[in-house]
Amino acid sequence: MASDKIILTGDRPTGRLHIGHYVGSLRRRVQIQDEGDYKRMYVFIADAQALTDNVDNPEKVRQNLIEVALDYLSVGLDPEKTVIYVQSQIPELCELTFYFMNMVTVSRLQRNPTVKTEIQMRGFSGESIPVGFFTYPISQAADITAFDATHVPVGEDQKPMLEQTCEIVRRFNNIYGEGTLTEPKIVLPDNAACLRLPGTDGKAKMSKSLGNCIYLSDTAQELKKKVMSMYTDPLHIHVEDPGHIEGNTVFTYLDAFSRPDHFAEYWPEYQNLDELKEHYQRGGLGDMKVKKFLNKILEETLAPVRERRKEYEQDIPAVYEMLRKGSETAREAAAATLDRVRHAMKIDYF
Ligand code: ATP
Ligand code: MG
Repeated sequence: MASDKIILTGDRPTGRLHIGHYVGSLRRRVQIQDEGDYKRMYVFIADAQALTDNVDNPEKVRQNLIEVALDYLSVGLDPEKTVIYVQSQIPELCELTFYFMNMVTVSRLQRNPTVKTEIQMRGFSGESIPVGFFTYPISQAADITAFDATHVPVGEDQKPMLEQTCEIVRRFNNIYGEGTLTEPKIVLPDNAACLRLPGTDGKAKMSKSLGNCIYLSDTAQELKKKVMSMYTDPLHIHVEDPGHIEGNTVFTYLDAFSRPDHFAEYWPEYQNLDELKEHYQRGGLGDMKVKKFLNKILEETLAPVRERRKEYEQDIPAVYEMLRKGSETAREAAAATLDRVRHAMKIDYF
């Protein structure tokens, strides 16, 4: 039975999508899409947002638009079920952002922990930060509310963004009338390892901007090379040494990707991940063996994605046409919300 849920998520076209996106959000989206328990599901490519910190590199954003669209199709997002659209094609979002700007203070934006981290990561210093980047949480509130989204399945880094959106909605409704805009709920991954998948270098977050990613489109050889050089436990020098699981990226990835049937198929010496972890912690288990196992599991997940991508790559104009149609549908929905917003604000003068 379809419910009243409106699901919405997006990704920045700043690079191809990686396995952090997959476990943090994409896998969940496809699952929700296929279960069909929603009124509508939207997925968008945030090209305008990507420009906020790529002003000198618009070509990168333009090229990655198609890469992200290909990643979507290859993981199983289906344009027959999900409205897939391009943010810049929905001018209503700018209008809504314009109204929202009055409801947020500079100090509130400065307190947003995700923005703080991202400012650091990008090396913007002092007040040299582009205004558009600084205010992107506001435009993100417009991205969500323009579609009356009720559920947003994203990674943990987006939590402060959703909180900020809810504050804006409450303020707006308080001033212009309860029920005008909808407060969204964040849907986080239920597996702790997927909340914020670390990079292959062991750094806190796998991120396109940090170059520590395993991409969905990596070849089998690239995947293997990255897995084999992954960060593990620097104190685990000899095979017989006891190893540490905490902060050991290989085990975090196993937490995110492995299932008991993987053991039966690829490593029957162990029943499950707990047994493997126990052996590693006891000592006597080398990193290479664990990495080979992880590689098999990732290859099982990524091989079909890679194959589907190849098929879609054969007809790029069809992919653009899919985005055009999706953007048209999305724009109708945003326009209806903006009519309602203008009416609530009593600026529908004529
Ligand atoms: P950028 O560095 O350009 O910000 P990104 O890799 O952080 O790129 P986004 O496009 O900002 O990717 O994020 C898209 C979605 O993927 C969001 O829902 C975000 O929470 C999720 N996500 C991104 N990286 C990870 C990760 N390492 N682990 C879990 N979820 C992630
Ligand atoms: Mg990001």
